[in-house]
Amino acid sequence: MTTQRIFCIGRNYAEHVRELGNEEGDPVIFMKPATCLVTRETKELVLPADGDLDYETELVVEIGKTGRALNEAEAPSFIRALGVGFDLTRRVLQKELLSRGLPWERCKAFDHSAPLGELTSFDPAADDLKRLRFSGYVNGELRQSGDTSQMIFPIARLIVEISRDWTLLPGDLIYTGTPKGIGRLHDGDILSAMDHRGKLCSWTIRAAL
Ligand code: MN
Repeated sequence: MTTQRIFCIGRNYAEHVRELGNEEGDPVIFMKPATCLVTRETKELVLPADGDLDYETELVVEIGKTGRALNEAEAPSFIRALGVGFDLTRRVLQKELLSRGLPWERCKAFDHSAPLGELTSFDPAADDLKRLRFSGYVNGELRQSGDTSQMIFPIARLIVEISRDWTLLPGDLIYTGTPKGIGRLHDGDILSAMDHRGKLCSWTIRAAL
């Protein structure tokens, strides 16, 4: 399935909202172009020249069919698959852009900013959207533990919100927000995530030549 768009949700876990000093409000929705995607076959991620790179471990939803103006009851039927990925962020640059009221693309939508693990078909009988667990590791050390029960806006609500302004298309991805525990990456770090089914994916961080 071809991805044309990556939707990302900001400020969806209360403890992460607090660790960045933000306030809860409506869902924050932004996008990355599909060219930001890095599959697990690509083993390395490029560190920006100034070393400004943070990981955010996120549960990822893949949309399976076209729909708009959906309601919460029908929203889950639009999910084709689930997985885990990283919303890589240039945090220093983000703070600067935010303080100047400028758009986020330079800190969020750069090359390699959306690594994605293996997607697994969504099975409503096995996958409770309100109780999916995932985790992020740096050099094998647990850094983030996510549980969708802690989301401010649950997955079905996110699909509803996005479908108000964008007609959802097969292959669309939704990075659903990060729990607390974000942090910096360095040259040589191994960045890994475990998805809701226990599947692990890893990339090595490499400084640009
Ligand atoms: Mn994020």
